[in-house]
Amino acid sequence: MSQSAELRPGEQIVDLPPAEDAHLRYIGRIRTPFKTREDCPRQGSFDGPDCRVELIPALEPALDGIERTDTLELLYWLDRSRRDLLTQSPRGSGELRGTFSLRSPNRPNPIGTSVVRLVAREGAVLVVRGLDCLDGTPLLDIKPARCDHAVRKRAEAERQG
Ligand code: SAM
Repeated sequence: MSQSAELRPGEQIVDLPPAEDAHLRYIGRIRTPFKTREDCPRQGSFDGPDCRVELIPALEPALDGIERTDTLELLYWLDRSRRDLLTQSPRGSGELRGTFSLRSPNRPNPIGTSVVRLVAREGAVLVVRGLDCLDGTPLLDIKPARCDHAVRKRAEAERQG
């Protein structure tokens, strides 16, 4: 979105063809205490603050069974990112790296992912810990975390001997 964010020395940009439409829908908004990039951690941690994942009310039935897992993977749209950077200088280090070798929010499709701990469900709202996004970030998807699934499967196999 904000192509005007300042470039660091040596960073390259690209003029891409118009976007095809993937028919993505924002399925909710993420409420965090992080109002500016400076407030945001670079990656979330389970020790971080409670954040609220506010799903569109019509989608509430799609949360059925969510409490069966305590770790979730969230996908969100980093809506205040640049989308034209080919190379970037992480934290202004001077070293230039290709966008796809980084987890920078600035990328052609600025999708962020975090594994979060589910603290509580309040109807269509999930209270989670482990996020690193700005307040109001649009939500794209919610899935049980892969590691949680793998741990459960292993525990189940062990139980069955
Ligand atoms: N955990 C995600 C991942 O690995 O895909 C995102 C990592 S990215 C390094 C996190 C940083 O993106 C934050 O520290 C903040 O500077 C920035 N950020 C957070 N929310 C954003 C938003 N809505 N738009 C643009 N940048 C955002």
